[in-house]
Amino acid sequence: MADRVYNFSAGPAVLPVPALEQAQKDLLALPGVGASVMEISHRSKAFDAIMAETRQLLTDLVGIPEGYTMLFLQGGASLQFSMVPMNFLQGTGKPADYIITGTWGGKGKEEAQKLGTVNVAWDGASHNYSYLPTGAELKLSPDAAYIHVTSNETIQGVQFPSDPKFGTAPLVCDLSSDFMCRPIDIKKYDVLYACAQKNAGIAGCTVVLLKNEMLERVPKGLPSMLDYKLFAKNDSLYNTPPCFAIYMLMLVCRWLKNDIGGLKKMEEHNKAKCKLLYDVLDSSGGYFQGHARPDCRSLMNVTFRLPNEEVETKFLAEAKTHKLVDLKGHRSVGGIRASIYNAMPIEGVKTLAAFMTDFQKKNG
Ligand code: PMP
Repeated sequence: MADRVYNFSAGPAVLPVPALEQAQKDLLALPGVGASVMEISHRSKAFDAIMAETRQLLTDLVGIPEGYTMLFLQGGASLQFSMVPMNFLQGTGKPADYIITGTWGGKGKEEAQKLGTVNVAWDGASHNYSYLPTGAELKLSPDAAYIHVTSNETIQGVQFPSDPKFGTAPLVCDLSSDFMCRPIDIKKYDVLYACAQKNAGIAGCTVVLLKNEMLERVPKGLPSMLDYKLFAKNDSLYNTPPCFAIYMLMLVCRWLKNDIGGLKKMEEHNKAKCKLLYDVLDSSGGYFQGHARPDCRSLMNVTFRLPNEEVETKFLAEAKTHKLVDLKGHRSVGGIRASIYNAMPIEGVKTLAAFMTDFQKKNG
């Protein structure tokens, strides 16, 4: 096998090796087709089959019941920050409630403010987004068009311990960095979206799941490319979809189903993986300082600091010599971030945990 590193990138991120191997096999020609997925029409039988299998795998893995619409869109999760208020806020005369638990929730709010009235129901800025609110702490509007929340803040490394369900207004959730890391109760969500480049494949495709009732709220006259209803009517084929990204999503879902055994099993692996790192933080006597309050710790993004920036720079450089790469925290917060998405093997996390312990012994 190629000489692969342990890649802790926050996204685009590590992919399951079986998915990469299958893509490599299919790269010159899909079986029975004689051309790759990048070269065939999105309206061909072969691509129809890829779309159908992807839909079925996602439906089975996530447990999507009747009454939901699944869309594959472009523009990343960031476009959803605009599409959500365009489709569900603008022109309603109601406010939208935004729960700001970190950088991404804040970006979503900024886009919504361009299109309508936003009520910030909670904002964790004063404690640098190190913990999450309880329902009682939220200042929800009585008549919100929807409530927007981020299930896992990728930069700060805070994640709701289970489905974040608040209030009675429709719940819109950004699951970009924890989609399929554990089972969810989809009925709690009215709209959810996730860019693919963390747990669901590669950049270029965003999965959106909406309750069908929500589609009835979409106003007429939106630009076509920003209209959920139009994409729903056209089964995500209003224009050319991100064909290769959808194909990779299919391969990742196959791996999740066949090799891992579904999302419950995936959650067990993820809990075991992050525990290895959080145990090192907790037993370091404060040498490694976790950013997130323990009850809000993310399964996916483990964020922490060392005593000073100089030591952090040394940590990152030495980590690289152990094939542990992309551990630098986001430029807005600094420190260290180990993103341990579904496809990160436990061996990678064990290697990192051992490296951390050893680093403290030598430098602590
Ligand atoms: N939301 C969350 C939680 C994210 O982690 C990211 C990307 N890191 C985004 C939104 C933005 O995604 P994109 O780059 O696909 O627009």
